[in-house]
Amino acid sequence: MSDRSSRTDTNALARILEYHRFDTWGVAGISVDQKARERFQRWIADGRHGTMEYLARSASARFDPTQIVAKARTIIVVAVNYFQKRPQPSAGRGIVSRYAWGRDYHNEIGGRLRRVVRDLSQAFPGDSFRPFVDATPIGEASAATQAGLGFQGRNTLLITPRFGSWVFLGEILSTRSFETSGPRAGENGCPSRCRRCVEMCPTGAIELPGVLDARKCISYLTIEYSGFIEPAMMEAIGTRIFGCDACQEACPLNRVATETTVESFCAHRAGPDVEIGEILRLGDERAFADRFAGTPLMRAKRTRLVRNALIVAGNGAMNELSSLVEEHSHATDPVIAQTAAWAAKKLAGTR
Ligand code: SF4
Ligand code: SF4
Repeated sequence: MSDRSSRTDTNALARILEYHRFDTWGVAGISVDQKARERFQRWIADGRHGTMEYLARSASARFDPTQIVAKARTIIVVAVNYFQKRPQPSAGRGIVSRYAWGRDYHNEIGGRLRRVVRDLSQAFPGDSFRPFVDATPIGEASAATQAGLGFQGRNTLLITPRFGSWVFLGEILSTRSFETSGPRAGENGCPSRCRRCVEMCPTGAIELPGVLDARKCISYLTIEYSGFIEPAMMEAIGTRIFGCDACQEACPLNRVATETTVESFCAHRAGPDVEIGEILRLGDERAFADRFAGTPLMRAKRTRLVRNALIVAGNGAMNELSSLVEEHSHATDPVIAQTAAWAAKKLAGTR
């Protein structure tokens, strides 16, 4: 394809992406990111992925998009800002990570990407386009860096110049060759002396030069991990019931953040914090789904959320919930029963 027709195609792509309101986007050529792949494989070999076995299974394909779409020639990476200011939580409530306040971002980003694919397929009928949001094995931060959206910070997240790290990412693998954006000049990394995310992480999960030990990360522990959490980690979780924003809140490059206007993120289903008593009273999966269907909290399932609520009740000295905590210590689920016993002991120590 000539440079000129590639430019015309890229202009058409830009119009389609702007029409579907992506905040920022870029294009990278298809290549194997060997360095990122080796880092990731070392990370898996060290066991830092915890129980997320699906990550180990995808280790080879993550940094080689041709293992997903054999004829892919470019990868289009898009981002949408999700930042919102956090109101002060009132007593008796557990803190929810910002990404989960509204409707599940997979629906918002996935819906937009599907409409982009529809428009691209009409514009370029001989080509194929495949959208991805998070759930499939693409090394997102690596692809986004190569597409010029930003760089990967020491907290391992992609940091963009306009929105910091408060962005959801999505990708389209394309058999059409668009002009590539290339990595951003002059934005190769964090300020050399900055260690804020490392210092502010409540569990010491970020190791220098920028490696995350998921087994210590509160996001992993509260969302992905279903077992009993060791007491030192439960203490560090504090009053976070779902996820953790500490390393993002600490990052000076996130001061650029502006509030999102995306309706489905702002229409709160879970919201910035949830009432712990309400979570402890969610008697079954149906009650849980009635309350949280369509939100990212569904990923934790009821039992993990109840386990987390017990931890928050203990850490938050929520003595008004002590009889509910006590009830859970007789649960048939051993993780719930053990966590409730820990929380009851903690509450007894605060009376
Ligand atoms: S999300 Fe929280 S626990 Fe995980 S690395 Fe960041 S600050 Fe640490
Ligand atoms: S807090 Fe500092 S070191 Fe950490 S990601 Fe942000 S700029 Fe980089």
